[in-house]
Amino acid sequence: MPVKPLVFIPDSQLRLISKPVQGMDKDVRRLVDDMFATMYKAPGIGLAAIQIGEPLRVVTLDVSRRDDTQEPMTLINPEITWHSEELREMEEGCLSIPDYYASVERPDKVRLKYRDIDFKEHEIEADGVFATCIQHEIDHLNGILFIDHLSKLKRDRVMKKFTKLARQRDDEA
Ligand SMILES: [Zn+2]
Repeated sequence: MPVKPLVFIPDSQLRLISKPVQGMDKDVRRLVDDMFATMYKAPGIGLAAIQIGEPLRVVTLDVSRRDDTQEPMTLINPEITWHSEELREMEEGCLSIPDYYASVERPDKVRLKYRDIDFKEHEIEADGVFATCIQHEIDHLNGILFIDHLSKLKRDRVMKKFTKLARQRDDEA
């Protein structure tokens, strides 16, 4: 389960629309393993495949937030089929935008359809951190970042900072 390098903004890969998974095979299973290894190492509570450069509709999650037990969850082709009118504001961060946090307002509850690691279909309801995390990760599959939900002023400021950082990384390489 190798840890993969993360893709950071302003990399344009993060704007790609990821493709649905057609069925489980060795490659998709390996991708899921790599995603969990990368997510736990970071550490993060959610990761979309595009964040390690793979434009497929695969998400790994673990919102257990406990050190002693892991509750890994794999979402293949996740889709929100309903969301509540009520919104909830929560502070979000993103492994592709390190050390930056901001409050985002999203529907408080969602109904989610997805396939598991055996490609079996499920439909569940989620709220709280779980609902926020699901919406954040599904946005990634559609090329949307959490900073897109902020004001243009805030977003421009973050993009400028990370563009500068990327340039510094390139100069050092
Ligand atoms: Zn993210």
